[in-house]
Amino acid sequence: MLYIVATPIGNLKDITFRAIDVLRNVDLILAEDTRRTGILLKEYKIKGKMISFNDFNKEKKTASVIEMLKKGKEIALVSDAGTPGISDPGFYLVRECVKGGIKIIPVPGACALISGLVCSGLPTDKFSFFGFIPKKEGKKKEFFKGVSGTTVFYESPHRLLKTLKLMNEMIPNKNVVIARELTKKFEEFIRGTVAEVYLELKDKKIKGEIVVVIN
Ligand code: SAM
Repeated sequence: MLYIVATPIGNLKDITFRAIDVLRNVDLILAEDTRRTGILLKEYKIKGKMISFNDFNKEKKTASVIEMLKKGKEIALVSDAGTPGISDPGFYLVRECVKGGIKIIPVPGACALISGLVCSGLPTDKFSFFGFIPKKEGKKKEFFKGVSGTTVFYESPHRLLKTLKLMNEMIPNKNVVIARELTKKFEEFIRGTVAEVYLELKDKKIKGEIVVVIN
């Protein structure tokens, strides 16, 4: 069995009893970032065996993981934070396990996009999620030409101002929420029209992890 285990996106208390149980009892933990997961395991005194499973080694490691699963081993997949499979190598492993007839079990919990969306104050009845949007200006322009309804994406702090500048040129009147450092000490929601938020942030240095919600 392969367990897809959600872990905190900041606050280490955001983990379920079931996730702790599963991580304690599996034969192996596949972690996107062994250092970050190590901190979590230490906090909850979980002594399980852990190996890295990330974008760089996912293809190499998948065959041996599937072989272990077929032999009856119980394995948990965790991403560096949040729900595995959302903008991380989780999808690749799940798809290969589905092809291999492996049983896959979700252990739900924190997810940055959902936390950002539900606190944004923008309509949540329907929304589109795009993961990380294109980095190149041309493709980014295409992306913003097509946005409609509530749109959620992840953005790096280094690119945020460039992205907001482009949004200000293209969609200045839409509402935007910058959800930053969710569940952490410096958690912050910056809300307004694109033009207002760009004006507020344009001369600031933006740090931390970010979810952007537009409507
Ligand atoms: N699988 C993860 C999830 O369920 O949220 C997302 C993985 S993706 C590689 C990492 C991105 O999620 C970050 O670059 C950031 O945009 C967003 N993110 C993760 N933690 C966050 C937090 N505490 N606050 C705001 N955004 C966060």
